[in-house]
Amino acid sequence: MLLIAWFQSPLSGEGKPNQSADYPLQPVPFNKVEMKSDFWRPRLVTQRETLVPWAFERTQPGVEHLKAARDYLAGKKTEEHRPHRFIDSDLYKVMEGAAYLLQLERDPVLEKTLDELADIITAAQHKNGYLYPSHTTGFGKAKDMMGDTPYTFVVHSHELYNVGHLYEAAVAYYQATGKDQLLQVAEKSAQHINNVFFKGDPKYNDGKPIQQAPGHQELELALVKLYRVTGKKLYLDMARKFLEVRGITYVPDGEGVMAPTYAQQHKPVLEQSEAVGHAVRATYLYSAMADVGTLTGEPAYGKALDRIWGNITDTRMHITGGLGAVHGIEGFGPQYELPNAHAFNETCAAVGNVLFNYRMFLLHKDAKYLDVAEVALLNNVLAAVNLEGNRFFYVNPLDADGKYPFNHGVAERAPWFGTACCPSNLARVIPQVPGMTFAHDDDNLYVTFYSEFGTTVNIDGVNVSLEQKTAYPNDGEISIAVSPEKTAEFQIHLRIPTWTQDRFVPGDLYAYTDASSNTVTLTVNGDPMKTELEKGFATIQREWRAGDRILLHLPMPLRINECHDSVEANRNRVALTRGPFVMCAEGIDNGGVTQRYFLPQTSETTNVQVSTKAIETGSFIQVTAPASRATKDGGTEEANIVLTPYYAWNNRGVGSMTVWLPRDKELAVYDPHALPKESIFSKIKASHTSPIDTVSAIGDGQEPKWSTGNKVPRWTSRPQKDKPQQVEARFHETKKMRNVGVYWMQDREDVRFPKEWSLEVEKDGKWEPFKLYTTDRYDTRANQYNVVHPAAPLECDAIRILMTPQKDACMGILEVQVAFEE
Ligand SMILES: [Zn+2]
Repeated sequence: MLLIAWFQSPLSGEGKPNQSADYPLQPVPFNKVEMKSDFWRPRLVTQRETLVPWAFERTQPGVEHLKAARDYLAGKKTEEHRPHRFIDSDLYKVMEGAAYLLQLERDPVLEKTLDELADIITAAQHKNGYLYPSHTTGFGKAKDMMGDTPYTFVVHSHELYNVGHLYEAAVAYYQATGKDQLLQVAEKSAQHINNVFFKGDPKYNDGKPIQQAPGHQELELALVKLYRVTGKKLYLDMARKFLEVRGITYVPDGEGVMAPTYAQQHKPVLEQSEAVGHAVRATYLYSAMADVGTLTGEPAYGKALDRIWGNITDTRMHITGGLGAVHGIEGFGPQYELPNAHAFNETCAAVGNVLFNYRMFLLHKDAKYLDVAEVALLNNVLAAVNLEGNRFFYVNPLDADGKYPFNHGVAERAPWFGTACCPSNLARVIPQVPGMTFAHDDDNLYVTFYSEFGTTVNIDGVNVSLEQKTAYPNDGEISIAVSPEKTAEFQIHLRIPTWTQDRFVPGDLYAYTDASSNTVTLTVNGDPMKTELEKGFATIQREWRAGDRILLHLPMPLRINECHDSVEANRNRVALTRGPFVMCAEGIDNGGVTQRYFLPQTSETTNVQVSTKAIETGSFIQVTAPASRATKDGGTEEANIVLTPYYAWNNRGVGSMTVWLPRDKELAVYDPHALPKESIFSKIKASHTSPIDTVSAIGDGQEPKWSTGNKVPRWTSRPQKDKPQQVEARFHETKKMRNVGVYWMQDREDVRFPKEWSLEVEKDGKWEPFKLYTTDRYDTRANQYNVVHPAAPLECDAIRILMTPQKDACMGILEVQVAFEE
């Protein structure tokens, strides 16, 4: 989607690109579309009034970081501060988004903000073009991740990633305002990088060209943008060279973030066939490969991308369009590894999925890529921000119990993140959606994304006005008035989405189990048209006259989807979709726990009701359908299930959510917070439990890896600071105990290890102190169980943990283990 800006009016005069090869289709510039849609227009308003101002406020540490570099270079004293090394990139992305808003509508205040930032950035750049405040000031040094000096740890320093985002912001700012100040900074940076990486600069790497690809891709596609706006082929050549050296001149050989696959450096890019490693890096890489392959006329790039695209859609994509299913590497897991509650699906990766697929459409003129882009945009990308526009998901799971802290420590959207790549990506991506509505060449018009809008496009010298009326994506009735200024013959291609056919989204992973008798219909001025598809488009060729009207009906019944059997998490489960939307059940509409529900085998959904749900911050469609649910006593009852589009979940408080519903009762769970059957405890209670945590977490058998508790359910005493607490856990029967281990929680917020703690045991209904073995202590060591043994063999029915907090702190426990004598 980002490439839309690149196609905006080329610069006049000498800067005009000399393009010998390019995508066969041109998208409409997003600022030439008047978006009237009730679905998108409010989002653009939110973007201007809430999201971008909020994002500027939250990226202020990035501004301070740049100011420190500016002051340092000016010989002034700079204050010690500790921003992370890629914080500038978040700011640059917000600036890019703000510049797009300026292109949609003039705004002197916003423009002044950008002008001031441009001055700071300009002053933070070294004379030779180097721009990376962390090395300039020496503050916030993570030397193990950025090297001692510039360009000595390119695999993880993000030096090239940061400036890539600056180039994109510079191009957008220039296109919005005509001011080339940042463009000059970008060009100076690019020429410096060209010297250091491809020619040799005496100041770096002993004067030898570094010839290494960035560890986090981004610079490649940014260089293509810089080429498009300046017309200087050097930048396209640099993008090509960075792709050509990837996986050849440097291949890391460790594990995790140093694995060869992590940043797709395991093979030369033209030999890659599978999506591996960090998913954001991967999608930025694939987007750059599409651009460079197209602009250089090298078909091998397209061939590699066809293989990779097939691998993603057949084996590695969630039904929401989410990519990068696994935590840890924030990336692609093994084929068919698509967990639900524990899915990672970084927001940036879904944005990248849209960028990649939109380019693939322009390259191949095939609607299947738009179908993937649309599913990723309307489901995963939109879910990443609340309707109000000021809270965000970094991680996008497909199932939630209302407690598991999947999103950087919380079970809901967060106001911001230390690493804020995701919200800043939303700042720049949403304003560009209008540019995805159609594309054209000289005598073909492709209607790609449906929504209510008006625009004028020039087809073979004739201005054609287009007015689209529709409530899409909430409804599938679409009316398009086509009015050429004079009668003209050309083809209009209308995308008939994959979801109107036998599956929700292209690829082998998902298929409808039900048949639908509803068919797509298409008329022009009331005359039925054929809807045979070529590459996913229905084509109408005729002499168009002013006042011609196309009516397209895309039926949107509720559909039942099953998943490829190799995906273990979805076996014997179904997901419901309506039109381009994945539907989910939320606790707030369904009596609290969505995991209780199941959908027995039926060939299709009947008695479905569609309604509009309005809440304070917006509205969305809901669907009510018959279902069954497990009852407390182990029985089954019939109950309607209310479904909400996935993008709208978690806008009404923290709660439970399910996309993949069980087919039968065995998989339904009445209470996900109940202790598992195999727990050593029969009952656990606490003096106080945070409403967003669960006390059963300490006996649920889910092993913590770190004391931060980011990946497992936990008990905490939030928000009760400075207050002693106790947790009591009862055994199924009287037991002879060997030892007790407590895995304490401590995070960067208010949960700290206890100042002191001790145990009591219950015997015959009486509590007494636990007599500690002579060399034991009540420890609070991080990232492990703190184990204590009784002084003598001890029979008891229950244990009690007594704890006193540190000053101004709450306490937390991730897991408690008890070993028994045989
Ligand atoms: Zn991100």
